[in-house]
Amino acid sequence: MDTIDPQAHRVARALLDHQGPYVVVAHTDPDGDAVGSVLTLARALRRLGREVITPMTPPPRFLRFLVDDGELVDPLTERPRDALVVVLDSDPARSSGVPTSGGQVVNVDHHGTNPGTAEVAWVDPRYASATMMVAEVVDALGVEWDARLATPCLAGLMTDTGHFRFGNTDRRALQAAGRLIDAGVAYAELSDRLQWRHPDFFRMLALVMATVRFRLDGEVVLADQTLAMREALGESEDDSDDYVGQLRYAEGTRVAAILKERGGAVKLSVRSRGGASARRICVALGGGGHDAAAGATLEGVDLATAERRLLEAVEAELRGVAGRPGGTTATDAS
Ligand code: AMP
Ligand code: MN
Repeated sequence: MDTIDPQAHRVARALLDHQGPYVVVAHTDPDGDAVGSVLTLARALRRLGREVITPMTPPPRFLRFLVDDGELVDPLTERPRDALVVVLDSDPARSSGVPTSGGQVVNVDHHGTNPGTAEVAWVDPRYASATMMVAEVVDALGVEWDARLATPCLAGLMTDTGHFRFGNTDRRALQAAGRLIDAGVAYAELSDRLQWRHPDFFRMLALVMATVRFRLDGEVVLADQTLAMREALGESEDDSDDYVGQLRYAEGTRVAAILKERGGAVKLSVRSRGGASARRICVALGGGGHDAAAGATLEGVDLATAERRLLEAVEAELRGVAGRPGGTTATDAS
C-alpha cells in the first residue's frame, strides 16, 4: 500500500530480526479487529516460512467463518522458549493467549489507553482499526497481498468502524478498504457474512431490549444482559457489541451502556457521542478504550451496584463536558 508509517518498518524489522517462532495474540473477548489482526499477520509471517502460533479463546460465532479449522489454538499457559510475542489490538496487560512477561514483546495497537511500554511498541489512536496498522506492517514485510490476507484484514476494519458508519471512518480508512478490495476481497459477500447472526442472537436481543431504561434526564440509555438470560438461551457468545450498537442510536442520548452480568463481575460496554467520552467514563471505572467506545469490568459487584457506579461516572463526565470549553470531539472505534 502506498504509504507506510516508519513505525511499521520498525515493527517489521523487529519481526524479521527474530529467528524463532512467533506467538501472535490480541485482547481478551476477541472482536473482529482482534481476530482480523492476528490472522492477517500470522498468515503473512507464514508466507515468509516462519513458524507462528496463534492462541486465542474462541471468537464470537459470527466471526468464525474467517478462521480455518485448527488455525487458532487454545491459550498457552507458558511462553514457548525462543518465541517472540506479538500483541495486536491490545496493550500487553489486557492481552490474552500467552503470558507476556519474561521476554520481548512487539505491540501494535490503536487504543489510546495503551501506555506503549512494550520493547517495540507502535501505538497510534488515529488508526480506525489495528488491522490498518497490521496492513502497513505486511507491506513493510514485503509480503504480496491476496484475498487470504486481505479478507480478515478488511473484516477488522469493517467491524471496528461499524461497517464504515462510525466517526472513526476517515479517508485513510476508506482508502485502506479500497486497496484491500483491490487485493481480492469479495466485499459484498464479506459484508453480508459479517452481519449474519445465530437465531439465538435475536432471542437474546429481545430479552436485552426488554430491560432498556433511560437515566439522567434521558441522556443515558442502559440495558442488561443477565446470567439468567444466558442460562435460558444457552451460552451464546454472540457479539454483545451489537446490542449496545443498537442502543447508541436512541435519540437524545449521549451515553449508551450495556451491563453484562458475569459470575461475580459485571462487564460494561459503553458508547458515547456529543463530546462525552466513553473512554474517560471507563477509565474512571478501571477500564479503557476509545473516546466513543470503551469498556470496563467491575469485579465483585452485582448489577445494581454496577449501574450505580456507572451512573456516577457518567454524571461526572457529563458535568465535566459541560464545564470544558467546546467539550471534546469523540470518534468511534472498537
Ligand atoms: P467493548 O465494549 O468491550 O466492545 O469495548 C469497546 C472498546 O473498548 C474496544 O476497543 C475494547 O477493546 C476497548 N476496551 C474494553 N475494555 C477495555 C479495557 N478494560 N481496557 C482497555 N480497552 C478496553
Ligand atoms: Mn480494534
